[in-house]
Amino acid sequence: MKKNIIIANWKMSLTDLEAIELSKKLVKKLKKQNEVDVAICPSHTALDRVASEIKRSEIKLGAQNCFWEDTGSFTGAISPKVLNELNCSYVIIGHSERREHLNETDGMVNKKVKAALANNLIPIICVGETFSERQEGHKDFKIMEQVSKAIKDVELNNKEIIIAYEPVWVIGSGQAVEPVEAEHTMQVIRQVIIDNFSPEIFDTQVRLIYGGSIDKDNILEFVNQPSIEGALVGGASLDVDKFVPIIDAK
Ligand code: PEP
Repeated sequence: MKKNIIIANWKMSLTDLEAIELSKKLVKKLKKQNEVDVAICPSHTALDRVASEIKRSEIKLGAQNCFWEDTGSFTGAISPKVLNELNCSYVIIGHSERREHLNETDGMVNKKVKAALANNLIPIICVGETFSERQEGHKDFKIMEQVSKAIKDVELNNKEIIIAYEPVWVIGSGQAVEPVEAEHTMQVIRQVIIDNFSPEIFDTQVRLIYGGSIDKDNILEFVNQPSIEGALVGGASLDVDKFVPIIDAK
């Protein structure tokens, strides 16, 4: 039985000291619970110290990006092998902000997914349409294309992946999409996963989560949808009093 997962994406919003403080508060405030998995993704520079803060808690560590090679002449890149050494369990791949500002392509996303899995990291693969793609009626096609390119020739063996559906135009807007619409998109993603892997693999090794203006007031409407198994949370994960109620929502 897969558990729901709530993942905090702290982006570049905090200094390392602020990330450490927030981790301490989260460890204190988060009730012992094993119904939901929780992961936090601080900046790379804070990973080591945040790892020390959460090591006795149930909170898992994630990174916000990785490169597709383990070592080599790649100035400024972050090795997935090092993320594993730093006790990361997860890595966000292909976030729309990286696709937009750093020209990250579906091909790069695919290589990063393979590198993450090879280093025992669970990739959180972000997909989502822009507002104009939606207005032009291409939303489902865009999602199918991004997912199938991200998982092309991926050997899952017994490993897990997470697909985060994040409509680009609602990220940080304070206005999420309708939960039923997110559910429809999850069905589209599910079909791509089944076509590329199998229904069994979908049922046991793939989690589908939603991201985009999640808060304590709307989380339940999303996770109560049949196919939504958690959330990727940006803005509301930066304040312990906004993030903990999202995790505790019942
Ligand atoms: C995100 O950028 O991954 C995200 C979900 O942001 P927000 O919750 O702020 O919309």
